[in-house]
Amino acid sequence: MSVSATSPQSAGRATPRPLVLHGIGVAPGIVIARALVFKHQETPIFRVPLLRAEVAEEVARLEAAKDLTQRQLQEVRARTVSALGEDHGYIFDAHSLMLDDPLVAARIEEVIRRERVNAEWAAQLVLDELSSVFDDLEDDYFRARRSDVYDVIGRLMRNLAGAPPRSLEKVERKYILLSDNVRPSDTARLDWDQMAGLAMEAGSRTYHTAIIARSLGIPCVVGVRDLTAKVDHGAPLILDGGEGIVVVNPDRTTLRDYRGRRRRQTLLKQKLEHLRELPAETKDGYRIVLQANVEFPEECATAQSQGAEGIGLFRSEWFLTRNRGQFPSEEEQYRVYRSMAEQMRPWSVIVRAFDLSAEQLGEEMGQSEANPALGLRAIRLLLKRRDLFKEQLRALLRARAHGNVKVMFPMVSGVGELREALAVVEEAKEELRREGAPFGGDLPCGVTLEVPSAAATADLLAREAAFFSIGTNDLIQYLIGVDRGNDQVSYLYEPLHPAMLRTLRFVIDSAHAAGIKVGMCGEMASDPVLVALLVGFGLDELSMNAVSIPTVKNIIRHLSAKEAREVAQEALRLPTVKEVSGFLNEKLRGLIP
Ligand code: PEP
Ligand code: MG
Repeated sequence: MSVSATSPQSAGRATPRPLVLHGIGVAPGIVIARALVFKHQETPIFRVPLLRAEVAEEVARLEAAKDLTQRQLQEVRARTVSALGEDHGYIFDAHSLMLDDPLVAARIEEVIRRERVNAEWAAQLVLDELSSVFDDLEDDYFRARRSDVYDVIGRLMRNLAGAPPRSLEKVERKYILLSDNVRPSDTARLDWDQMAGLAMEAGSRTYHTAIIARSLGIPCVVGVRDLTAKVDHGAPLILDGGEGIVVVNPDRTTLRDYRGRRRRQTLLKQKLEHLRELPAETKDGYRIVLQANVEFPEECATAQSQGAEGIGLFRSEWFLTRNRGQFPSEEEQYRVYRSMAEQMRPWSVIVRAFDLSAEQLGEEMGQSEANPALGLRAIRLLLKRRDLFKEQLRALLRARAHGNVKVMFPMVSGVGELREALAVVEEAKEELRREGAPFGGDLPCGVTLEVPSAAATADLLAREAAFFSIGTNDLIQYLIGVDRGNDQVSYLYEPLHPAMLRTLRFVIDSAHAAGIKVGMCGEMASDPVLVALLVGFGLDELSMNAVSIPTVKNIIRHLSAKEAREVAQEALRLPTVKEVSGFLNEKLRGLIP
């Protein structure tokens, strides 16, 4: 990684042409500044055959590099905790554990001994092995963990080569950092105060660096192809972290346009800060609860700072990432659920039971699935692995004794499956009772409504579930039959498909007829254009990425529930996505001053 002094593009050269690069917007906000390019330059690794007598020395060299790496990780951890807070320190605990994992250091040593090769070559082999395993994973979250492995083994390899730890120079003025990959362990060395924005080639929404940028409020775009090859150091940039756009060498008109947008966003943000303590209530008194979706427990702090009234979705699969694919113990889960509930008191924390595929769990039956999205996953898998399911339920029941914890079951397809899940809850209670362990017997058990068969039988499910949370990300994909990750057909992935609107209407009405609350936890819940429609449908709770909460709250406070119901009625009459979307956009323009 090399960083040279920032220099504006040389005078006298022809004005460079504007270029628009697209990626995934993971932390909203518009910033305008110059580029600081930060690139990891990989040194070529050579294979050096060893004599038998040299092997022990090579293993000692590996051990020394490993010890140094561990010490550096502890330093980085300490620096990160002092710069960003205790919440972010655990990433380096995970890195430290990863280094000690038999799949890493011990495996490198094994390769050195077996193949009689230098440690760098052995480390590269192990890295290649591990990265192909990560490549095959379906889930973005777990795939993103590959970068953590790169980070740890990359550091070990640099230490083997005796290279000094890489660092970013301090720079005097605000810059937009462009990188192939800002790895989690780089984040401690960054001068976040001077960073206006961040864009990189690697990453996903759930990559730790993206999560850190989001929680620090630094606009960020990830997944921008060939970014560092296309942009010169010092080039003027606009970065829009909401839309996922980087404009390089913007012309005057574009600059004017984005300055205008930025001004409006800043004004809105200032205005919205005052809303933090105010309820999400329409002008005519209809109250909605706005909650946060969190990927990991430490995000509860960000949720609170944005005024979240509870956690509407905790993706508990996080435990497997933290534990490098190992299942968490009941005790470990109990501590985390309890501490989240205590932190969010008096609001509730909805924990979604493990939403995993058989393959992610390392189950053999997962290897042969042609269609994992329709296969053995989520509640189907938990009902097969009742040991794991029951352990999670026991932890949740025990945490319920200390706070407002709820559980919801992912991918329930109908009443039969819900009953089976509830029977396991009863078994867990019975066990705890026998053991004399304190627990909250009134743990509310809800359904994540995301499969069309569940939606079609929502009236029946509502009689036996404690609440519904509509998982629109999956519901849209299953209802319209379109893979949400396939860019060939992504144009069909439409939240406003009339089939979706009718389904929402039926699900929400069914819940209310049975007297239970219904929330929404998919991405659809945070789209400003859709707020009037969702309020008009009568949703009780909306759960979203915490940073979207102020914007959504602001819209709700400008709405009247009566008007919103009329919007929903009208939208239901329109036959195409285009018409529904045009209609809602027009309504939103009319609503917000
Ligand atoms: C959903 O399906 O809408 C949801 C919130 O869950 P996930 O995106 O984790 O599948
Ligand atoms: Mg889902």
